[in-house]
Amino acid sequence: MYRVDTSDPLQKWRWVCPSPKRHSNWRVTDGKFECRSCGRTYDELVNNETGDRVARDEIEFVGPDADSKGQFGKPTVGGR
Ligand SMILES: [Zn+2]
Repeated sequence: MYRVDTSDPLQKWRWVCPSPKRHSNWRVTDGKFECRSCGRTYDELVNNETGDRVARDEIEFVGPDADSKGQFGKPTVGGR
């Protein structure tokens, strides 16, 4: 289990979208990750240090907006 503090950009930017472009401006929506650069959602993120693909339920998010549930399609983490 990984832990990501979304209020710490350095921790958040360690994780990128699974596309070959490796975007870091993803956000968490209902059980998935939405990449704002790709304009699509993914079931997993890539750890930019190890190259591992990691599923949503293996990453725990902590931070000011990390525990809000959010409706489907609404950002719960990193949405502004
Ligand atoms: Zn992307």
